[in-house]
Amino acid sequence: MPHQTTPTSNADPVALICEAIRDRQRFVISSHSRPDGDSIGSQLAMAYALRALGKDVEVVNQDAAPSALMAFPGVRSVLVADRVDGQFDAAIIMECSELKRTGVEGLDQYFVINIDHHPGNANYGAVNWFDGGAAACAEMVFDVIRALGVPLSLEIATHIYVGILTDTGSFHYSSISSRTFDICRQLVDAGVEPPKVARSIFDSNTLGRLKLFGAVLSSIELEDDGRLAIVCVDRAMAAAAGGTYDDTEGLINLPLTVREIQAAVFFKEIAKHDYRVSMRSKGDIDLCAVAKKFGGGGHKNASGCSVTGRYHEVRARVVREVIAAIAHGSPSEEEPSAAL
Ligand code: 5GP
Ligand code: MN
Repeated sequence: MPHQTTPTSNADPVALICEAIRDRQRFVISSHSRPDGDSIGSQLAMAYALRALGKDVEVVNQDAAPSALMAFPGVRSVLVADRVDGQFDAAIIMECSELKRTGVEGLDQYFVINIDHHPGNANYGAVNWFDGGAAACAEMVFDVIRALGVPLSLEIATHIYVGILTDTGSFHYSSISSRTFDICRQLVDAGVEPPKVARSIFDSNTLGRLKLFGAVLSSIELEDDGRLAIVCVDRAMAAAAGGTYDDTEGLINLPLTVREIQAAVFFKEIAKHDYRVSMRSKGDIDLCAVAKKFGGGGHKNASGCSVTGRYHEVRARVVREVIAAIAHGSPSEEEPSAAL
């Protein structure tokens, strides 16, 4: 069976999505607030494919794309709004386990097509395709575009590659499969240059951002005998380092480059007693389950949530759960040869 079906239908969800697209003309495409590379890549790949079919497409998100993605085709024309009211025949929602993850109101007035790979997707669409085995939502978009018969233009292929590269943590996470590489092979055949994409995404730091990384990382704390890293940032720290608050994007991935560290938690003060929490892990340590306990979500190796309270209390509550998750997850191997 090529695709997982939703509980509401036995038909191939990709075929249902293609039918729903062919029958309609005007589309709005949305994704979760604070969109990441997989949101933007999935949305723009889909937008270019639909336009190739002669459809009218608007891409709308609650927040702007990360600055490192601004140079990719079409990203600057993504609309930033928290409500849509236009004349659309359908809303394609990607990367959202629930419709409210978009932060955009008004989407529920349209025929909703829900495409997602986050565990616990609520099947909120008129057509739903959930595939928890996809390493990125962009893998699913690839399948839809192929089924629609749209050729892989360089724009489409680039955006799908951006989604896969970023959502796999640069091919680090356990969600990667042979399907991931099979798709990437076809993207490279379509003209994608992986070093060029990687340079554009990862080597576009400002000096302020690098210095902020330095400041935050130099105050790293360890728990659980060095298996868990804790980092935190507030606005004063960011300003003192000469970076902006958004400059901390991606910082959470760095502690895991230390061999012994199995999980990392990043606390970012949004307002007094209000914290964004980002979590990353190696191997089977399930942080999606941890995030869900705090009303958030995500994937096994990358999840997030918002927690309110005093810092030391928030930190203690989250750390307790992450240490329990580390104890449950099988530790990743110590010896490099064991990974072969
Ligand atoms: P990040 O740490 O990069 O913000 O998020 C990592 C992953 O967790 C992403 O897949 C993201 O969609 C998910 N995630 C982050 N915050 C939340 C949240 O508050 N709710 C849910 N459901 N998922 C989240
Ligand atoms: Mn994703």
